[in-house]
Order: sequence, then structure tokens, then C-alpha cells
Amino acid sequence: MTNNRRLLLCMPHMSGNEMKFIEEAMRGNWAVPMGPHVDAFERALEEFLGLEGTGKRVVALSAGTAALHLALVACGVGPGDEVICQSMTFAASCNPVRYVGATPVFVDSEAVTWNIDPTLLDRAISERISLTNRKPKAIIIVHLYGMPAQVEEIRAVADKYAIPVIEDAAEAFGSNYGGQAAGTFGDFGVLSFNGNKMITTSGGGALIVPDEATRRRVIYYATQARDGYPYYHHTEVGYNYRLSNISACIGLGQMTVLNQHLEHHRRVHEIYGELFASEPRIMLSGNPTEKYDANFWLSTILLSRELSIKGREDAYVQPTENAVGGVAAVTRQASDVHSTCEPSVDVEALRLRLSRLNIETRPLWKPMHRQPVFAECPAYVSGTAETLFERGLCLPSGPDITPDDQKFIVNSILDSIN
Ligand SMILES: *Cc1c(COP(=O)(O)O)cnc(C)c1O
Repeated sequence: MTNNRRLLLCMPHMSGNEMKFIEEAMRGNWAVPMGPHVDAFERALEEFLGLEGTGKRVVALSAGTAALHLALVACGVGPGDEVICQSMTFAASCNPVRYVGATPVFVDSEAVTWNIDPTLLDRAISERISLTNRKPKAIIIVHLYGMPAQVEEIRAVADKYAIPVIEDAAEAFGSNYGGQAAGTFGDFGVLSFNGNKMITTSGGGALIVPDEATRRRVIYYATQARDGYPYYHHTEVGYNYRLSNISACIGLGQMTVLNQHLEHHRRVHEIYGELFASEPRIMLSGNPTEKYDANFWLSTILLSRELSIKGREDAYVQPTENAVGGVAAVTRQASDVHSTCEPSVDVEALRLRLSRLNIETRPLWKPMHRQPVFAECPAYVSGTAETLFERGLCLPSGPDITPDDQKFIVNSILDSIN
């Protein structure tokens, strides 16, 4: 049996309120990258994140990537600087380090939350200081798949060296640690409202900033760094990164269903937990202690080395076409897989089997220190991220996934195991 409808990882889901805000904006001729809906969206985010009384503010931007870029600009990162970055992440976390001419220094993950390893972080910083005589300018941490990183331990290391923390919470909107919202632990916090995230503005993001002065500064950089003259006068390089008012309308509509989305993703995770309970060789990742409250943006599993997937002999990793016309199709024999950094043959065999049943799954993020584009960058590696990448898969978790879909997904997985 295959599914008629393809079960995708995470699709956008509209509340029905988006159009009301858009019509309101159109009536007021607010089809510009600023306006009352941008302001209202920022206030709604601040309220949701519990920023009142903290001094922190939110600036809505055109993408999470833009928010990371401006966080680096605000930290004064420039050519020749080094920035520590969690290696296991999406490339958007560290591409902006290159935009400002700096070098990312990658640090591996710990096995509990899959995020940056605080002990290795400490070692990396002290070694960079002794090698270069300079401190890394910032630390980029990530809450992968919505699981909060070990923020207390990371903060202690960052404070010991007095290095600012940029918290990439693009996947962790609505996650908490110790009752505090992800994105509010760092000096800067990054949110994404891309189409596949917890909520969408079709494309957009936000930067959580420490205070009002920084908020003004970030808006200045996001709007071409225009100085206060009647004509256009510039003393610094600026960017065009402000969120469109129309996108903010979608965001305001999405805020009306955010709590529903969060409940849904957490419920999906709970159901996967129940359905996989009988198979100890499939490990569903979960909150390690009661302090952690992940949003479970995507539910993820690790395949034990003790299982094998039917048809694994035929599985090999084959790049799919990219947006600009395809990549050279490198095919590998199953036997080569472990000498490179690829998903294991079992993971790939399972992915292919599920895909034929109309179920989308995806390997975990491939560590940045194994990406050709960052091959020259220093890396502090324990092997954890590579192992996770080799053994892990993301499962459909979005608003359209029903309990029956989940039964079909899990039964299909269990049927695939030898
Ligand atoms: C999606 C994502 C981003 C980038 O956000 P955009 O809004 O797509 O630019 C950054 N970091 C991580 C970890 C992400 O998943």
C-alpha cells in the first residue's frame, strides 16, 4: 500500500487570518518593507518570547540568514576574524561568517542534544587564542530540530572568555529551556519564518537584540545604513534586509495558530514515541531532562547499527538535482559509504523505500566541517556529528500529518527492518 498524498517533512499551513491582514495592508497602501504590520508582528513576537522587562527587542528581517548576517555585523565581525560555529547545522548558520570576510571555526556536537559540545567549545577557544593571539569574535550555537542546546554550560564558557553568543533558533521557535524561550539566551537570537519552519511569512526572519540601542543600530544596517540627512548620506555599508509589510501580514496570521502548531509538533513527537516503543533499534530523539522543552519542529530517529534495512544492497547515495541545473551525479557503491561522510547504507535504503511509498524523509544535517565549501576551515571534531549524520533521519512532522499518517509511516519503517 502506498499513500495517495505524499507525506512531506513540514509544509506551511495557513490559519485563514492571513488574508485579512493583507487586505488591511493593501487598503492602507502598506505594500512596502516597513509599516504597521511589521511593527505589530515584532510586538507579537516580543510578547510570545516573554521579552517584557528584559530590555530585549525584536527586529523583523527578510530572512533568518539576514538576521545572522546582521548579528555578525552588530558584533563587529570583519575580515580576518574567526567565529566559532556549531558544525552540525544548516549552511545558513555559517555562510554569513563568510559574507563578512571572517573564518568559521567549527566545533562538534555532544550526543545528548546534538548541539555544540561545551567542553570542546572551551578547548577550541583556548586553542584559537594561543594559536592566533586573538579571541574568536562570536560563537554561533544552534538548536537543531528545535532541541535546545546546553545553554547554561555554553553561556559559562562564553562568559569566561567574554565572547558574544549568537543563538540560531531558526528551528526552535517555541522551544524552551528552564521555562525560558529559545532565542533569548544569547546576546543575539535568530528566528526564521521560511516556508518549512514552525510558522511562515513565506520568507522572513527576525533578530532578537539585547536592547533598544542595538535595535536602532540593526534597523539602520537593515535599511541601507542611511544617516540622518534630508538627502541620502552614508558613512557605513548597509543592507536591504527589512521584512516586507505584506510578509508581516502573513506572520500576524500565523501567530494566531502558533500555539496550535507547537501543540501539533509535540503531539506528533509523542505519537512517534508510542509507535516506536516496541523497536529498541530505532531511537527517537527526545528531551533529555525536564528542563528541555523542544518544539519538535522535526521528529528525528537514529538507526541502530544492529539493524539492517531490506534492499540495503541496492542503496547508494545519489545527489538530487539542485536548483541551478543539477550536480554531477556521483554514485557510490554501498561498500564505499563508510570511508566518506555519507548516510549509512541502511539510512539510504530506508529513505529510498519510504520515498517509493510516498513518504519524504531526509538525512540529518551534514556537518559543516565535512562540506567541500568549508574544507579549509579549522574544526574541533569528536566524531559525534558525523555519526549522527550517518545514522539519522528526519520524519514528516508538519501540520498536515495525521495520526493515521504516522501509523503508516512507522509501520512502513518497521516493515523495512530485517
Ligand atoms: C532555516 C534555517 C536558517 C535560515 O533561515 P532562512 O530564513 O531560511 O534564511 C538558519 N539556520 C538554521 C539552523 C535553519 O534551519
